[in-house]
Amino acid sequence: MFGSGHYSGFRVIKEALTGHKGWKPAWRDPAPQAAYDIIIIGGGGHGLATAYYLAKEFGQARIAVLEKGYLGGGNVGRNTTIIRSNYLLDGNEPFYEFSLKLWEGLEQDFNFNAMVSQRGILNLYHTDAQRDAYTRRGNAMILHGADAELLNRDQVKAMYPFLNFDNARFPIKGGLAQRRGGTVRHDAVAWGYARGADSRGVDLIQNCEVTGIRTEHGRVTGVDTSRGFIGAKKVGVAVAGNSSRVMSHVGMRLPIESHVLQAFVSEGLKPLIDGVITYGAGHFYVSQSDKGGLVFGGDIDGYNSYAQRGNMPVVEDVAEGGMSLMPMIGRARLLRSWGGIMDMSMDGSPIIDRTDIDGLYFNGGWCYGGFKATPASGWAFAHLLATDTPHETATAYRFDRFRKGLMIDEKGQGAQPNLH
Ligand SMILES: Cc1cc2nc3c(=O)[nH]c(=O)nc-3n(C[C@H](O)[C@H](O)[C@H](O)COP(=O)(O)OP(=O)(O)OC[C@H]3O[C@@H](n4cnc5c(N)ncnc54)[C@H](O)[C@@H]3O)c2cc1C
Repeated sequence: MFGSGHYSGFRVIKEALTGHKGWKPAWRDPAPQAAYDIIIIGGGGHGLATAYYLAKEFGQARIAVLEKGYLGGGNVGRNTTIIRSNYLLDGNEPFYEFSLKLWEGLEQDFNFNAMVSQRGILNLYHTDAQRDAYTRRGNAMILHGADAELLNRDQVKAMYPFLNFDNARFPIKGGLAQRRGGTVRHDAVAWGYARGADSRGVDLIQNCEVTGIRTEHGRVTGVDTSRGFIGAKKVGVAVAGNSSRVMSHVGMRLPIESHVLQAFVSEGLKPLIDGVITYGAGHFYVSQSDKGGLVFGGDIDGYNSYAQRGNMPVVEDVAEGGMSLMPMIGRARLLRSWGGIMDMSMDGSPIIDRTDIDGLYFNGGWCYGGFKATPASGWAFAHLLATDTPHETATAYRFDRFRKGLMIDEKGQGAQPNLH
């Protein structure tokens, strides 16, 4: 018998009345076994979700997640928590809409409060051409069963009167709204999936860095780790910003560069922004946490790095974007900032695919949009690992699209990872 039991309102009351003595750790801390059927490398959102769905939806057993640090210490606990499915292209929109639908039932599914909040997201437009592009995107979303609404200037002004509508260079002319978008408490997502996977018998092994991947006759046999060799029939790699490092163990060079992305949070303020706002004339986006802090971010730092911290020029750039969009943000004091390592792919879209090595599977290239993808990515990767066929919403996320020229370049930027 695994797990910490079912969480419910009744149990919270019972524990409150009995001195909170009945709570158990949310997951075990097992020692690695000699071998597993499936090993997932990386205990971030995607790795944990994959293990959870492998056990729950695909009936797989003898699964381990190997994490070099602690669960949730990577990007899953560092992002700005935005979820949405407002994509244009066929390769992307069904996948992200599948993800948003999974978010909508996630807390009941894994019995954990992840504070899924469909508070809405608004992409501002500032020119007629941008309005036309957003109209097209909104129509594509609706055709794929998502929700989208084009708002004019007055409608946006009624929502957020404090924005800089008459900015001489970038006047706000309206916005594309997705009301079902929003935010989710990011570390609770890692914890919810971890607890759900553990209760189904998955071994979550922390402080266990994978230092090599062993193969024999073109087939994977296991991984070398800081805690010794662990055998495996199948290995799934879901290490986000460390993708190139881990895949270099089998000599694979990926169409991915690693870059730092920073995020910022202000001191707590009274309720001001009840949704997510993205600036259409610069790279700046902002929401307000339930504690009151303005959570915001912008561009990646723009140079290759594996450091989970950034530099001052981007801090200045993000602050300028904020001042240009909502000048009163200059009165708020910054409380904290941090960075995470982005696995930026060459067309801005992810990869969920088999490799040329039998039994070795890859999930990565999430750029700075992989948090919203967590449920669908976990589900699709579990589908691939369990059945050896891609999930119907992830058929385009193949390695060979780069060789065949079948890019999924949502922004039409070309092979410029720093621009996606
Ligand atoms: C500042 C910031 C803001 C962001 N904002 C958003 C947003 O608002 N919305 C959105 O959708 N996305 C956002 N993202 C992107 C999103 O967070 C990532 O795309 C996503 O979290 C990546 O997947 P993951 O959760 O599995 O990654 P991670 O949590 O990074 O998991 C990968 C794990 O692999 C582990 N690992 C690495 N190497 C090894 C090894 N050799 N052995 C064992 N373990 C290893 C790491 O320690 C890590 O825990 C943001 C990212 C950042 C940094």
